[in-house]
Amino acid sequence: MAPLRAAVIGVGYLGKFHAQKYAALPDVELVAVVDENSARAEEVARDLGCRAVTDVQRLLGAIDVASIVVPTEHHYHVARACLEAGVHVLVEKPVTRTLAEAEELIKLARAKDRIFQVGHVERFNPAVLAAQRVLHKPLFIESYRLASFKARGTDVDVVLDLMIHDIDIILNLVQSEIVDVRPIGFPVLTDEVDIGHARLEFASGCVANVTASRVSDKAMRKVRVFQQDAYLSIDLHHPTLVCWRRIRNADGSARLASEEQAFPQADLLLEEVRAFVSAVRSGSPPPVSGLDGKRALEVALRISAGMGQAWPRRVAQA
Ligand code: NAD
Repeated sequence: MAPLRAAVIGVGYLGKFHAQKYAALPDVELVAVVDENSARAEEVARDLGCRAVTDVQRLLGAIDVASIVVPTEHHYHVARACLEAGVHVLVEKPVTRTLAEAEELIKLARAKDRIFQVGHVERFNPAVLAAQRVLHKPLFIESYRLASFKARGTDVDVVLDLMIHDIDIILNLVQSEIVDVRPIGFPVLTDEVDIGHARLEFASGCVANVTASRVSDKAMRKVRVFQQDAYLSIDLHHPTLVCWRRIRNADGSARLASEEQAFPQADLLLEEVRAFVSAVRSGSPPPVSGLDGKRALEVALRISAGMGQAWPRRVAQA
């Protein structure tokens, strides 16, 4: 079997890690890394023993698969060029800037019969995968994603930067349409919302309270899910799943019993890239499709828009 010829387009902070993952896979040849910053492309290419290119057009025809890890505002144009040239695409999250762009890429990938996967990496978290096996009808969800401040990623608000990870996890767990969104959020250190919360109500009756902050003291990534027969506490940071269930005693009374599963720290990005390569090889749907990316973006944009309405008024009153 000939190795798949891979490239990573955009090798800044995250793209370098993508490139390392392709280089580590046995059935893949990392042909090149692409970055408009030639010094950066050459530095990463030197480390990984591949070509450095500054314009993706020069590579089209010489690669089968690509990770697109340029800033979000450029996802659409780069992904479109790749898909049009018949390249399978793994694009980082958020899938694109707008829903129309996402829709166009989904259609193009379908027309060209190419795999189009979106980089919602937490789907590969072993604690999330284990929870998914237990959950069948979530009724109430709480998620907290708290991070300390870093300048990187602050070109977008905390919803598109961080909360979108939990939005994707929740949409995948609940599998129901959203009927109501009530957001609130505020800028703290940047001109965008840095801390925000949203209450999401689903047609199934499930309610999710989602909180994200990038100005917190301590890091936390937790999702708690309640369904009729169980309460699950998922720690994504130190991958652990605690499952509480109601047990009947002999006298008919009820008590709660817990079971804890701790998982070794997995290389989530390697799992994501491996799953992409496997979908390309087998032709089966990718674990996180373009449509999944678009759904998460749709909810994130709705939350962001609602927050934008809330905070200028509140700041003005302060
Ligand atoms: P970055 O700024 O560190 O890197 C982007 C790189 O792309 C830069 O080196 C830049 O020179 C290059 N570039 C820009 N336009 C280009 C073009 N047209 N062609 C080639 N190269 C180009 O950004 P980053 O933090 O690595 O983020 C990149 C993407 O990854 C963003 O979409 C971001 O949302 C996403 N991201 C996802 C996660 C996650 O947890 N999944 C984490 C961080 C970033």
